[in-house]
Formats: sequence, C-alpha cells, structure tokens
Amino acid sequence: MRRIYLDHTATTPLDPRVMEAMRPCFSGTFGNASSVHSYGRDARELLERARGTIAQAVGAEPAEVFFTSGGTEADNLAIMGVMSAVRGREGIVTSSAEHHAVLEPCRHLSENGKDVSFLPVDPYGAVDMDALRLQVGERTALVSIMHANNETGTISAVPAIAGIAHQAGALFHSDAVQSAGKIPLDVRELGVDLMTLSAHKMYGPKGIGALFVRRGAPVDPMLHGGGQERGRRPGTENVPLAVGFAEAFRLAVQEREEESARLRSLRDGLERRVRELFPGIIVNGDPAARLPHILNISFNAAEYSLEGDMLVMNMDLEGIAVTSGSACTSGSLEPSHVIRAMGRDEKTAKATLRFSFGKGNTMDDVGYVAERLKIVIERMLKKRTG
Ligand code: PLP
Repeated sequence: MRRIYLDHTATTPLDPRVMEAMRPCFSGTFGNASSVHSYGRDARELLERARGTIAQAVGAEPAEVFFTSGGTEADNLAIMGVMSAVRGREGIVTSSAEHHAVLEPCRHLSENGKDVSFLPVDPYGAVDMDALRLQVGERTALVSIMHANNETGTISAVPAIAGIAHQAGALFHSDAVQSAGKIPLDVRELGVDLMTLSAHKMYGPKGIGALFVRRGAPVDPMLHGGGQERGRRPGTENVPLAVGFAEAFRLAVQEREEESARLRSLRDGLERRVRELFPGIIVNGDPAARLPHILNISFNAAEYSLEGDMLVMNMDLEGIAVTSGSACTSGSLEPSHVIRAMGRDEKTAKATLRFSFGKGNTMDDVGYVAERLKIVIERMLKKRTG
C-alpha cells in the first residue's frame, strides 16, 4: 500500500547526511568532552564546532547556546530557570495557544505561587496584543510567546512582543521549535532573550535541542550535579547528537529558501483541492503569516459532524499519516487547546486535521491525499446517516 507521511510537525526522518556526520562520533571520537586528555579534547572540539554552527544559524554567539535534551527541556529551563533566578518579580505572561512544554511549567509555577497569565489569542491564533500590553507590567519577570504555532503555523509578531516585554523590564522567551529552518531566524532581529530549538523537527536526531540565552540574562539551572554547559545544564555532553543537530540546522538554513517555497506550493495545492471538495471548510491559522508547510483544517460541526480522531484513523488505514491536533493531544479525545483558544466550538475543534509537509512529499502526494480524504469522509458520513 502507498504510504504518505504528512506529520512533519510531530517529527521528521533523519537526513542521511546528518547520519553520516554523526557516525564517527559514536565510536571514533567517543571521548568525554569534559576530559582533559586528547580523547576528551577531540570530542570537545566537535561539540564546540557544533555549538558554533547552531549559534551562526540564529545570529547568536556560541557562548549563548546551551544544549539540552530537546525542545521540552529548553522550554522548561527557560521558564523555571528565569523564575528561579529573577528576584522581586513574580509574574509570567504567556498565551493559551502555547505548546504544552510551555503551558505545563507555567501551570506548575502558578500552583506554586507565581502569578501566571494565559492570554487569549485572536481567531488566527495570534496573541491578543491589547491584552499583552495590559498584562505586562513592573511585576512581570518573563513573557513567553512562541515564534510559530505547531498546530496552525501562525507566526507571532515576535519583535513587537519583545519590545513590550522589554519596555516593562521583563525578559522575553520564544519557542522557535517549528519555525527554525523554515523561516529566517535571527535572535537580535527578533529581540529574544531566550529561544528554544529542537533538532528532530529539522531532520536531525531526537533527544537534542538548545536554549539560546542572551549573554547576561539570568537563568538558574534545573539540574544539579556537574559543571557542563557552563553550569546551566549539567550532564555528560551528548557529542554525537550535538553534531547531528548542527549538521541538520546547517543544511536546513542552506536549503531553506528553495525547500520552503516547494513546501508552500504543496500546502497551497492541498488547500485549494480541499476547499473545492468541501465548501465551508475552515482553514485555521493566519493566511498572511503562516509557516509554509502546515495546513490545518476544521470541518464545521453544523455541516459535517465528524470526529478528528476517527478521521485520523481512517486516513491511517489509507496509508496517510496526519493528526487531529499536536502529537501529544492526538490519541486523546480532548479537542486541541489551540483550536479551542481560537474560538472554535468544541465539536468543530474536534473535527480538525493537520497536514504537515516535508522533504519526502511531492505534488503527486497532494492529489492522492485529496482523493483519499474525499473517499474517507464520504464513507464516514454515509455510515453516520446509514
Ligand atoms: N515546542 C514546540 C512548538 C513543539 O512543536 C515541540 C514538539 O512537538 C516541542 C516544543 C517539544 O520539543 P521536543 O520534542 O524536542 O521535546
């Protein structure tokens, strides 16, 4: 059976070139990067070269890049680390459409006495700027708003948001896990103090990410027990994965313009077909500021009455991998918190599908997916009425 993977926001396959870059680090240059002997120094050199490549990809200095076990840890380190280090300010301002890796540490801190505001978003999923201006004040330690949303692809007005945070004397963190390698990313232009990255969304290995921390920004470590990553993230450095991350990011930046244009044409092609097939469909996300590879649609409840999870399962039976929400909410019967936050009713939010394109997809896939989707939906609607 033909199989088509359209869930690149959940994860991407490892690029064979990344595999080749990593291979020598597993057994050849296996030393502990913190050892003083030549084995250690060789590993250290690879690690620092990888840090330099990642720093360059985002316009940072190498000393501002801290390796973590992934995006989740980097988000947690940013939020918990800043709230532990900053004295005299107890407030966090974030949005209700953030990834769980931001929402959950914020909730945890809220339960432990911090003052957390989860701001509303507009119908496109962008944070409400008036609410932001109202909430950010002299008690705010940290503002955390993602660069681009993993479910809808909506891109936030990060420089403007950073400006509001800084005017109030707060730090600004942005989760750029989904935008990295897809759109230009420069920490100085964005005005971020902290920024989260993850390798496995850009054809790199799973289990490694990084937190950019602007020089001088206060962040306490969450782990204790070693001095690695200049004390911010102790634990023996994972040189093979850092090397893979750097190679994946280097390739993503190098190939970004051409690949993003290609992905956009696939995404727009599917959007056109889906709109023709299902009039009245809702396309979620900001049409003027959206990542190029994500198409998120809802079948409005009044017209279609479909369950997203059933749609996902039926598409899977056709060999097509899509999701109804983010990877962690799919599989549960809860509708996506992002689509709900955008103002959709619960039933419509549940009837949501996310297609995310990647390197392996072609225009031929677009026609096939649209055709199978039509068959699946007709079958589901018939079953319902029959
Ligand atoms: N932030 C966003 C926006 C994501 O999409 C993801 C992954 O789904 C994460 C954070 C978590 O990253 P990781 O899987 O590397 O922990």
